[in-house]
Amino acid sequence: SAGYAEMTRIGEQRLVPVGEHVQSVLREDWLPVKEALKALDGRVVEYRFRCADGTVMWMRSRMHRQITNGVHTADFGVVQEITGERQALQAVNDQLSFIQRITARAPGLVYEYEIWPDGRVQFHFVSDGVESMLGISAHALRTNARLLFDQIDPDDVKQLQALSDAASRTMSPWQCEFRARDTGAHARWFMAHAVPQAGADGSILWCGSMTDISSQKHAQAKLTESEARFRSLTELSSDWYWQQDKDFRFVHVDPHYQSSVALPPGGLTGLTRWEVGYLGVTEQQWEAHRATLQAREVFHDFELQRMRPDGSFIWISVSGAPFYDSAGEFAGYRGTGRNISARKQAEADIERLAFYDPLTGLPNRRLLLDRLRHALEASARHSSHGALLFIDLDNFKELNDTLGHHQGDALLKQVAERLLACVRGIDSVARLGGDEFVVMLEDLGSSIDEAGAQAELVGKKILQSLNQEFFLGDQPQHSTPSIGITLFFERQHDLDEVLKRADLAMYQSKAAGRNTLRFFDPQMQAAANARVTVEAELRLGMQRKEFVLYYQPVVDHLSVTRGVEALIRWQHPERGMVSPAEFIPVAEQTGLILPLGLWVMEAACQQLERWSHQPQTQKLSIAVNVSARQFRHPDFAEQLLNLLRVTGANPYRLKLELTESMLLSDFEEVIARMTELRSIGVGFALDDFGTGYSSLSYLKQLPLDQLKIDQSFVRDVLTDPNDGAIAKTILNLAASLDLNVVAEGVETVGQRDFLLACGCRAFQGYLFGRPVPVDQLVL
Ligand code: C2E
Ligand code: CA
Ligand code: CA
Repeated sequence: SAGYAEMTRIGEQRLVPVGEHVQSVLREDWLPVKEALKALDGRVVEYRFRCADGTVMWMRSRMHRQITNGVHTADFGVVQEITGERQALQAVNDQLSFIQRITARAPGLVYEYEIWPDGRVQFHFVSDGVESMLGISAHALRTNARLLFDQIDPDDVKQLQALSDAASRTMSPWQCEFRARDTGAHARWFMAHAVPQAGADGSILWCGSMTDISSQKHAQAKLTESEARFRSLTELSSDWYWQQDKDFRFVHVDPHYQSSVALPPGGLTGLTRWEVGYLGVTEQQWEAHRATLQAREVFHDFELQRMRPDGSFIWISVSGAPFYDSAGEFAGYRGTGRNISARKQAEADIERLAFYDPLTGLPNRRLLLDRLRHALEASARHSSHGALLFIDLDNFKELNDTLGHHQGDALLKQVAERLLACVRGIDSVARLGGDEFVVMLEDLGSSIDEAGAQAELVGKKILQSLNQEFFLGDQPQHSTPSIGITLFFERQHDLDEVLKRADLAMYQSKAAGRNTLRFFDPQMQAAANARVTVEAELRLGMQRKEFVLYYQPVVDHLSVTRGVEALIRWQHPERGMVSPAEFIPVAEQTGLILPLGLWVMEAACQQLERWSHQPQTQKLSIAVNVSARQFRHPDFAEQLLNLLRVTGANPYRLKLELTESMLLSDFEEVIARMTELRSIGVGFALDDFGTGYSSLSYLKQLPLDQLKIDQSFVRDVLTDPNDGAIAKTILNLAASLDLNVVAEGVETVGQRDFLLACGCRAFQGYLFGRPVPVDQLVL
């Protein structure tokens, strides 16, 4: 045709042999052309063709053979130049391959597919990544979209379809996670999404991407698993978990905490640990704990106590470590806590077993030695004596054998109770084993004689107490102890030595016939023996009424007798007149001062009553000396009131002389008692003033009437300028406090005149009269 000639640039329209046409086809494209020529079945072939002028063009041919009534009549063909079309296609392909290159390099998969209302699906574009992701080529997928579904987990396919259907209806994007098999047929997790766009014929074009999220899924699963493991572990264990913010305030406490310690976990929120109100931690320990926190250090097993709402106590132990946020900033502390009450209880039990005798609950030898060690140190610090009493039951073995161990145990328990009742709170009672007990007394003062007397007093109390019958079952039983006593002072002897001495002294008691006490120290024992003798004699003396009251006048500045001081005398059948200086201390140490003092008081009251009937005596007052022990006795005031009532004596004529030693302890109680008696008229004088410790502040607070200047100052008032000065000072002091003063022991006129010049208005001493029986009193 003319068109062919023009197209191939052969110049004019002429016949062109088929071979010539084929010759002009580029060699690379020959094969399909030749095949189409052979087949002549109307197939389309496209090829490059060199025109007569040498230019190369793209051609498309279609050829077929005409057969009429079985006869080959002609071959037809059409040739069309498609260079432009091919170039456009090429451009599209270039663009596509550009997109492919880019999307292939990007992570995941990018796609576009179309869904028609009848359900047909066609991928228009799938990035090459699909091959490495799922093992299907992009080409294959474009040809058959269903291939994709074969790779996806059947359950997830359903989910995917449901999602997609729903999204189609609303024309909204969908997003889905699903499992699919990868090239190696391993299941992996993917996340896909697509955005819709309306297509032609009611179809929808979806464009989206898909990524492999297996590693995230894996990490997430791991996290969930570890959380679950953590949870189940904390649930299984008795520990609880807690967390604090950067200010150490609780932000989280396991609910588990509540069940473990029966405390509301919410109660802690917003508080620091030290604000919660824990116990069992000293201020120093809190300081150390806070320092640890400030230093951001890990801490282990910090033990503290809490009180439950019901008032019971628990011990808990906490451990914690700091943690930091993603920026590396300190974010707070977290850790665990645990209820350690059971362990603490066990520790306490173990301690009790280690240090206490299980039968009696008393300290055992070990604890006693420990306390003795401390007592020796304390003795050195306070320069104060202590005593150790070793007590052994005399007949325990027989009792145990005849009555049985059960009753033996019961006896030991009762002994323990009685021993405890014989001592003060600061003293210790211990059981060394068997029937051996030890009592340790502390703080017996700096005077060894006084300490010995006190220890003896306790020993006697124990003797007396253990001599009372014991009730074991229904039978009363008698048991006696042998007691050995030793004093200890300022680490003069070591522990073992002190124990040994008390033990030895106890054997001396046994040797002395049992049911008695002995001192280790021979001098101490001699003193004790003397005390025992005097005590026995005192008792006898009281029975035999060997005591009499002497009276010594107290005169005014005109030497007129205004009153008397009652001074006790003992008319001993063999020793003659015994001075109170000899027996009053023993009476005080043995407690006999109580009946003796009462007798003095009674005699004085009776005398007052008798004097009240005579004009020349009815104004006289009687001063009575009262020992500290006597005055402190709880019944003292009542007994005195009783005596005053019974005798009818005028309380305004009675004066009690107290010494300063009385004021050394229980000051308040002494004042209260003095005030009580003073309210009914009884007067008070402070005896031996100047020898004691009386400070001005003491004096001001005491409800006193009188000071008695001690005779030691009066004696040398003329010869020793110091004593003169002291006497003057006392007089000035008394004047300022509105107290009158009696100068004691005035023996010379010179002494009297000096004191008179200093302002003294009352005197007592041999110058005016010695102590004498009442009928010899010169008034
Ligand atoms: P005191 O209370 O200081 O009694 C004064 C003591 O000085 C008395 O000694 C008395 O005889 C003595 N005395 C009086 N004038 C002179 C003097 O001019 N020169 C000298 N050198 N001495 C003089 P006494 O009677 O031997 O009593 C001694 C201590 O015994 C008393 O000292 C008192 O503390 C205590 N005492 C006496 N009787 C009793 C009593 O009934 N109960 C109590 N608890 N203690 C008593
Ligand atoms: Ca006196
Ligand atoms: Ca005196």
